[in-house]
Amino acid sequence: MRPALLDPLFAPASALPGVGPKVAKLFDKLLVGPERTARVVDVLFHLPTGGIDRRNRPKIADAPRDAVATLEVRVVEHRPPGNRRSRAPWRVVVEDETGDVELVFFLAHHGWIEKALPLGATRWVSGKLELWDGHLQMVHPDRVLDAAGLERLPPVEPVYPMTEGLSPRIYAKAAEAALARLRDLPEWIDPAFLAQKRWPDFRAALAALHAPRAPEDLAPEAPARARLAYDEMLANQLALALVRASLRRPAGRVSAGDGRIAERIVAALPYALTGAQTQALADIRADLAADKRMLRLLQGDVGSGKTIVALLAMASAVEAGRQAALMAPTEILARQHYERLGPMAGAAGMRVALMTGRDKASERRATLAGLASGEIDILIGTHALFQDEVAFRDLGLAVVDEQHRFGVHQRLALGAKGEAVDVLVMTATPIPRTLVLTYFGDMDVSNLHEKPPGRQPIDTRAVSQERLGEVVAAVGRAIQAGRCCYWICPLVSESETSDLAAAEDRHADLVQHFGAARVGLVHGKMKGAAKDAAMEAFQRGDTQVLVATTVVEVGVDVPQATIMVIEHAERFGLAQLHQLRGRVGRGAGASTCLLLYKGPLSEAGEARIAIMRETEDGFRIAEEDLRLRGEGDVLGARQSGLPGFRLAQPEIHGALLEPARKEARLVLERDPGLEGPRGEALRALLYLFERDAAVRLIRAG
Ligand code: ADP
Ligand code: MG
Repeated sequence: MRPALLDPLFAPASALPGVGPKVAKLFDKLLVGPERTARVVDVLFHLPTGGIDRRNRPKIADAPRDAVATLEVRVVEHRPPGNRRSRAPWRVVVEDETGDVELVFFLAHHGWIEKALPLGATRWVSGKLELWDGHLQMVHPDRVLDAAGLERLPPVEPVYPMTEGLSPRIYAKAAEAALARLRDLPEWIDPAFLAQKRWPDFRAALAALHAPRAPEDLAPEAPARARLAYDEMLANQLALALVRASLRRPAGRVSAGDGRIAERIVAALPYALTGAQTQALADIRADLAADKRMLRLLQGDVGSGKTIVALLAMASAVEAGRQAALMAPTEILARQHYERLGPMAGAAGMRVALMTGRDKASERRATLAGLASGEIDILIGTHALFQDEVAFRDLGLAVVDEQHRFGVHQRLALGAKGEAVDVLVMTATPIPRTLVLTYFGDMDVSNLHEKPPGRQPIDTRAVSQERLGEVVAAVGRAIQAGRCCYWICPLVSESETSDLAAAEDRHADLVQHFGAARVGLVHGKMKGAAKDAAMEAFQRGDTQVLVATTVVEVGVDVPQATIMVIEHAERFGLAQLHQLRGRVGRGAGASTCLLLYKGPLSEAGEARIAIMRETEDGFRIAEEDLRLRGEGDVLGARQSGLPGFRLAQPEIHGALLEPARKEARLVLERDPGLEGPRGEALRALLYLFERDAAVRLIRAG
């Protein structure tokens, strides 16, 4: 139950003065997206990006040009337009002892002007002063005030990000009213920490931002902003800590085997495990052997060999008499894992099944029966694994590949499919430390920092799209020599149909050059079976060129492919380019990546291509990506629906994350049920930042 204290903040924004049904729609659009209803708290969390300083009160002669000034003036003359229908503006001349200014009103209500600016009266006008045709003017002053109005003029007027059709004045009024509804809330920050930081309390912080005293109050580093950022991070870390605690609560079971199956698999591998793979496996086995639940992130750059680690971990669970599941984000990837791992697992005596969204009903029934009876040891699949009807006899280990595509609730769902399920999540997008903390909290982490030996650096080049002809010729020579090539066509527009058209056109074009037998096509809109057939033909080497949309972005492994052509590389984000390039350079052969670009490049586009040419280090690329794009996109947060941050900016407030994490842990050690007075306050915090799903975990489990 939400604390009653917060009720006024969770009322719809339409409860605020000036917010009728039409304006409410605009508020929804601006604050929460059109599917949801904006509430008072959303108004408060929409912070100004700057402020107009109305304290500047110069004499006319000293007023800076092209800046906002508030002038004390006497009204000297009205110059109405010639006749009623004229489109000329209404001008009003005002002056002080140092000079005069023309106030200019286009299409304004004449009655209003005459009333607001009576001849001979003293008024305060505030707005931008410009020099036009040799004299000073102020077009549509923001404010025309008498002495009483001046009393009420805020010293600094916040400027909010707006949406089309919404008037800033209406927004400011709503924000003011929202602020007035805010009561003092119990303090959730540790008093000593709060004192050390000299931060205001929650309400004062919001007041400082919506009713600033000086423009400095609005700076991202200002105490009020920092406090709110910390609040949000604390809520986030506390929620993650609660998730973790609930996952761990049913004590884990020992589910590490004796190594007999894993040994057989390793013996059959054509290569030796790298030191990093061996270390990661040792970490995982130690977790499985302990009676605590495992929650481990296996992080490794593209091509670092995470899949075999997953298989050996699953073998360990099977040796212990339990089952394992491996979940992939796409069907192509699930199928690839099944085809790769199935034979290895089978040879070592394990039974593996595949489950995707498009299995036939009879296949599906058989799989479900096999899972329930324990006949199937390992289930590989897509998010179809989450469905309620999927029930295991005894699931011991769940592996989630390419973790960042799945949300927190999905991780929980898999963990709930068995008793004390150990969870291993794998990510190919190296995630900077701050983001690991933000999104995964206190997860244990193993890194595959080392790639398998013998990999050669990928020769990455940027080529203008105008030289397409030469690129086609070069690819032609390469496939004559037996090499294989991915050819990526990007998202051209918002509409998938036209994207497909681009891929289909390129396919037709390359067929002309190389012949239909050699060129395959795969894209997201294809029927499942056709997609598989195209992938398999390329894997077998039947086709040597695979034209694809970004469906091959994640995880696809065809080691003999050594050329990657990416059209319109400037349209891709860094992480995506890195993922795409990671499809080559997976075998011993030398690989090439051609980034075709269409100029003129934007600054960011140029920076991305330069970084790609400079480095193959996924961690470095991830950091740069973070810098260039901001946090949400790096993790594909939008796809997975992870709740992002609204107030905290990792680049600016990142240093607060570590204290927030420590604090969350400490709090739960002392008061795991959040029951004391501070616990109550922290619950309110979780609700405020919509981490309240975590509140339910306190009792569940
Ligand atoms: P990712 O970490 O990107 O998921 P994969 O698991 O797909 O990488 O592995 C990439 C390729 O490297 C695969 O073809 C795999 O067979 C191969 N590989 C994995 N481990 C080793 C190793 N220790 N030595 C040589 N090749 C390896
Ligand atoms: Mg992989």
